[in-house]
Amino acid sequence: MKTALIIGGCKGIGRAISERLAQDGFDIIATCRKPGLDSDETAQLVQNHQRTFTVLPLDVTEAEAAKAALWPYLEGEKLPDVIVYNAGIARDNLFAFMKQNEWADVMDTNLNGFYNTIQPFIFGLLARRSGRIIVITSASGQVGQAGQVNYSASKAALIGAVKALAREIGKKGIRVNAVAPGVIETDMTKDLPQDKILPLIPLHRYGKCEEVAAAVSFLAGPDSTYIHGQVLAVNGGLVI
Ligand code: NDP
Repeated sequence: MKTALIIGGCKGIGRAISERLAQDGFDIIATCRKPGLDSDETAQLVQNHQRTFTVLPLDVTEAEAAKAALWPYLEGEKLPDVIVYNAGIARDNLFAFMKQNEWADVMDTNLNGFYNTIQPFIFGLLARRSGRIIVITSASGQVGQAGQVNYSASKAALIGAVKALAREIGKKGIRVNAVAPGVIETDMTKDLPQDKILPLIPLHRYGKCEEVAAAVSFLAGPDSTYIHGQVLAVNGGLVI
């Protein structure tokens, strides 16, 4: 049976990825910081597709504790076939006013969290000689966004990490790609000024979590076997 691990898989885009990959036939392991309503609802969505759901509590910024939580899955039979790094936060501010903690919190979660939760899997993946790593970056990391110097830097860094890692481990049969959403309807974007943002999007609407999950499904599935080290944009034309 195929298994997918979604780091940050119980709400927003991550929940849609959990549900979609369950629909595709994967058993799901999804992390969240505090199991509760979010993880219960996600479990139900996954189980509706007759797949198993395991919630794994972890905070990606706590390196040692995160590695300990992931320990049972790092090699052997429990090693996931697909690993999605979706955890991310925004702490928007103009750079002139940006506080050190706004910079550090975003880097800790978006970039250091990637190291803390993905690096521990690499030896196991190399030994098995198969697997897919999919990283959720952002349009802001592709072009830069005013008011998001911290977020754009972290997401651009993830794109660099994906490309470099793809060069390192592709020959061992492990594929590494990124998905770069534009503006998607989630908690992260609910307070943004729609009237200012919609004119920037040629399709003139926000994206849906399911539309991002569909791109992840493609990269996790059988129709993308020669796609490697790429950034798949899901943004309604925001970045062309
Ligand atoms: P949400 O705020 O709904 O979800 C954020 C996710 O990140 C949750 O799964 C959350 O887990 C997890 N997370 C945050 N901090 C931590 C942490 N310290 N440790 C572990 N997990 C953590 O946002 P979205 O669904 O919108 O965002 C998902 C991803 O998509 C992010 O990487 C975001 O940057 C990216 N993205 C979103 C866009 C949008 O328009 N919404 C656009 C472009 C990219 P928990 O359940 O513990 O809260």
